[in-house]
Amino acid sequence: MSRTHPSEEVLQQFVLEAVTCSAEEISHIESCPECQSTVATYKVLAGELAGLAAPAFDFDLVAAVIGQLEEAAAPQAKMPKGTIVLIAAFIVIPLWLFRKSAYFVFTDMSAVFYGLVFAAAGIVVGVFLLRLYKKYQQIINLINE
Ligand SMILES: [Zn+2]
Repeated sequence: MSRTHPSEEVLQQFVLEAVTCSAEEISHIESCPECQSTVATYKVLAGELAGLAAPAFDFDLVAAVIGQLEEAAAPQAKMPKGTIVLIAAFIVIPLWLFRKSAYFVFTDMSAVFYGLVFAAAGIVVGVFLLRLYKKYQQIINLINE
């Protein structure tokens, strides 16, 4: 038996799906009175939750949540599309204009210019990630309401 107690997560896992715990964790839990009492508490809790789950979600929760998510996503969904077109235009138009000198563009550029290009790309990616994060936060807030 190992001396350290498994984490709360492991104990919950043990209650819900013991097969997913390691043999070491199981042998500890089964021989540790402290962990046994925690597990017993979680078993009671799990039993209570199982009894509650059905009536609490009697209505169509999935449809209600998805409806709200679509509402939340709709106004923002239009923005990235325009942004993508704009970015594509900024890449494609210069490439097309300078297609004949493209080879020299990539051999004559200084390290500073490469740095600027990478910095600009980094900013664009950063803005996208920030947007994605804000959208995610908005959805989480909706769920928590
Ligand atoms: Zn223990």
